[in-house]
Amino acid sequence: MPPLKRLLAAAVILAVATLQCRRAEGVPKDPIEKEAEDALVAYIGIDTSNPPGNETAGAQFLRDLLLKEGIEARLLGPDPARQSLYARLASGTNEKALILAHHIDVVPANAAEWARPPFSGARDGGYIWGRGALDVKSLGIAELMAFIDLKRRNVKLRRDVIFLALADEELGGINGARAILENHPELFRNAGFVLNEGGYNETVVDKITFWGIENQQKVPLFLRLHAKGMPGHSASPPDNGGTVAKLVRAMNAVLSIPTPYRLNADVANYFHLAGRHRKDARGQFIRTIAEPLDVARIEKVLTPGYKALLRNTITLTRVSGGLSTNAIPAAASADVDIRLLPDEQTSAMIERVRAEVGEHAEVEVLLQSEATPATPADTELFDVLAKAMKADEPGSAVEPIVGAGTSDSRYFRAKGMVAYGIAPFKVNYYDADNVHGADERIRARFFAEGVRLMRRIVTDFCAAPK
Ligand SMILES: [Zn+2]
Repeated sequence: MPPLKRLLAAAVILAVATLQCRRAEGVPKDPIEKEAEDALVAYIGIDTSNPPGNETAGAQFLRDLLLKEGIEARLLGPDPARQSLYARLASGTNEKALILAHHIDVVPANAAEWARPPFSGARDGGYIWGRGALDVKSLGIAELMAFIDLKRRNVKLRRDVIFLALADEELGGINGARAILENHPELFRNAGFVLNEGGYNETVVDKITFWGIENQQKVPLFLRLHAKGMPGHSASPPDNGGTVAKLVRAMNAVLSIPTPYRLNADVANYFHLAGRHRKDARGQFIRTIAEPLDVARIEKVLTPGYKALLRNTITLTRVSGGLSTNAIPAAASADVDIRLLPDEQTSAMIERVRAEVGEHAEVEVLLQSEATPATPADTELFDVLAKAMKADEPGSAVEPIVGAGTSDSRYFRAKGMVAYGIAPFKVNYYDADNVHGADERIRARFFAEGVRLMRRIVTDFCAAPK
């Protein structure tokens, strides 16, 4: 081949390869998927770090998108800067409504640790980057597109569909889900079902093998220990060593509270079902796990994520106090994040902490929840999810799981609603590490696929039979 022709041929091959590569990376073909990607990028660009939250800016952004479609939406909540958003598509039937819920707020990001600015929504290397890309603005936009899609196609509904964007989930939902359910019960009177964050899936080389649908979670209890005393020169400390020494003793006392392994009934159910789909040693162990627990084997076979479902966890997360090396401060404090097994009461743990800490510190309760019953897995909504997920990835398994973390779902479960945590997006393990960490991102292709799956789920559950 003459040089010019060879060059041209190479250029053609390159162009085709680029095209295929671009297609493989899933430049969205469906206009609604392109629209979803643009909306996600813009939504990530709104800094809703909690604290302080600033969710109203996110709620207004979503309201504008809904208004463009002719859908009325209202902002709700006790704090003008921290509004949630509520919109409803009416069916004219008495069937229990479906709520599509997600949270607007995100955990703060330290920009210095990130390869891309955390609120840029940068599209790079096949990913969409930014805080909230996985937790959980992607889910919010997938739900929004499914909701808008019903309206655009003028789908005849067999149940009402509610789009609910919530403030303050990351710090316990006090200004979000909890306040709104308490202050506006009339908006939820006929609501029976909730889809929210909290699911999890396992992938092998870009194929999902297991979809976990969260139907129960651990109970959060956030405490702050306050040590107080006389400020003074540290060259002549008081006998007790001063405030910071008192705080250290209080922290040690909290860490000394035993958290033995115990098999909760919901966790047993999850392990037995999930274990059937795992061929490795972990699968073999969890599918037959029973009391009395084999502690040595737990330590050897299970990861911290699994172990956290077999015991309460007590974690020190924040310490503050003191201004200089040679002065004793008047006050010092430490935060404790406690997660109890799903059937435990927080009041008993608070008493235990107070007793252990004794005179070293005062115990302030920052967030106290109560155990709620698990959502059963034999519901019409679970069947719709399982069918859609299995169709999306032939050969995959779908089972209920217990979450080691928490979500707003507990507030809806407490009202008797069927609430599931789902993850409609494929997330490889190497992409999942960045939730609450640096370089949070979602693959554009997986996001587009999840948007499609969400539309299917919502249509299957809410459209009237033809
Ligand atoms: Zn979240």
